[in-house]
Amino acid sequence: MDFDLTEEQSMVQKMVRDFAQKEIVPTIKEQDRKQEMAPFVIPRMGELGILGACIPVRYGGQGMDYISLGLACEELEAVDTSLRVVLSVHTGLCALTLLQWGTEDQKQKYLNPLAKGELVGCGAFSEPGAGSDFANIVGSAKRDGDVYVLNGEKMWISLANVADIAVVTMRTNPHAEKLSRGLTTFLVDLHSPGVTRDDIHGKLGVRAGSTGWISFQDVRVPVENRIGEEGEGFKVTMSSFDNGRYTVAAGATGLIRASLEASVAYAKERKTFGKPISNHQMIQAKIARMSRDYEASRLLYLRAGTLKNQGIRNTRETSLAKWVATEASFNAASEAVQIHGGYGFSDEYNVERYLRNAKGAMIYEGSNEIQQLIQASYALGYRKDKPLRRELPAFDEEYWQEENL
Ligand SMILES: Cc1cc2nc3c(=O)[nH]c(=O)nc-3n(C[C@H](O)[C@H](O)[C@H](O)COP(=O)(O)OP(=O)(O)OC[C@H]3O[C@@H](n4cnc5c(N)ncnc54)[C@H](O)[C@@H]3O)c2cc1C
Repeated sequence: MDFDLTEEQSMVQKMVRDFAQKEIVPTIKEQDRKQEMAPFVIPRMGELGILGACIPVRYGGQGMDYISLGLACEELEAVDTSLRVVLSVHTGLCALTLLQWGTEDQKQKYLNPLAKGELVGCGAFSEPGAGSDFANIVGSAKRDGDVYVLNGEKMWISLANVADIAVVTMRTNPHAEKLSRGLTTFLVDLHSPGVTRDDIHGKLGVRAGSTGWISFQDVRVPVENRIGEEGEGFKVTMSSFDNGRYTVAAGATGLIRASLEASVAYAKERKTFGKPISNHQMIQAKIARMSRDYEASRLLYLRAGTLKNQGIRNTRETSLAKWVATEASFNAASEAVQIHGGYGFSDEYNVERYLRNAKGAMIYEGSNEIQQLIQASYALGYRKDKPLRRELPAFDEEYWQEENL
């Protein structure tokens, strides 16, 4: 593992930091209060190339590697979680799922507009009755000639109300011997007849982002929009989580950094008992823990990104990075509020927003209880990954940056 960033990675990091700090910071508190995303955010991320950072140039992207994607997520969530969520679902759950499992025709047709932000994508897997127990979803897709007819409800879907297309997994075989073998994944045009959707309001965090529900009533999806084979939907969905979780881990690392920086600045300024609170050892212990957790979380996501670059299966490493970083980000934000005392309890400072935002990441993309079950099953030897029919392509600089001639 190389600890130095390449010139390209540093450029992506700087560009995304400049965007988030200069263009988002001035309005984010207001958007969080209004509980909506500013309309310019996603188009601007498309214009800057952030949405297609790790998509090969031949498919309309910037041809950067997976570590660049992680660095972008870290910078985005250092400002607000809602920004990183865009990359988690648009890039992680949608575009990278197509890159891994899509046919050449699907990639040609959809990756280009996704990379440029001309289409916004999301991943719709969870249902009102099934989140962690994903194999138990009941939404159905029935084949009718050259289309599938989709019926069902998807719940807690990030970007539900702003996306144009969604990667959706439904049950195609209710009689499959194993529940997980009866699922199939599709790319669905969310402007199709029979699709209704809306945002969920009153959320604890990620208020400057869209989280909602999507209902499918007799939605006709062409067979050529099936992603992978019939019955392969569980594997397609789980591998999309390998990418989504990676972005969540990297983003949570950014949230730890933001909590640490805010705490350091405040602790040096605020005085009690005749000296800055940064001189009190109990405050220093909190700062030390944040600093430790930032470094450890960063190493874990960079390791997962390095494995992705090399084309090596990384379910275990990515799950560990997600669990460690999201738990640490919640603790860091909570301690940051504590360090700010009464002021931390108001939205005059950012740390209360960090705390509210941090909680969601312990629940989505596989709750942290599920990550612990995954880690235990590897450690106990109960789980061994077999090669997938389609792996996420390794980063090959020459191929990724070549135009499609
Ligand atoms: C802000 C936000 C954004 C989201 N975005 C998306 C999205 O874009 N796409 C999408 O498909 N979904 C999304 N989700 C849904 C998310 O993935 C689910 O909420 C999550 O998987 C948990 O499922 P659940 O809510 O049904 O809880 P449940 O599965 O009902 O779990 C409830 C509790 O029980 C625990 N639990 C469950 N099973 C076990 C077990 N075996 N052992 C120990 N504990 C267990 C869980 O960890 C949790 O604490 C989002 C959720 C939120 C909050």
